[in-house]
Amino acid sequence: MQNSWKCTKCGYTLETDAPPETCPSCNEKCEFVNVTCYIPDCGDTGSDPRLGS
Ligand SMILES: [Zn+2]
Repeated sequence: MQNSWKCTKCGYTLETDAPPETCPSCNEKCEFVNVTCYIPDCGDTGSDPRLGS
């Protein structure tokens, strides 16, 4: 599973293992924050741990 990264400057998001040095949208060296969604609503786990027995 890849991480989601969001540019703090323009809000551009992308999914990759590591944030790029240069924002594809700004074309500048922006700071990226990890906005990977871990909540079940995102459906990225495929299973609910409460039902895991
Ligand atoms: Zn940007």
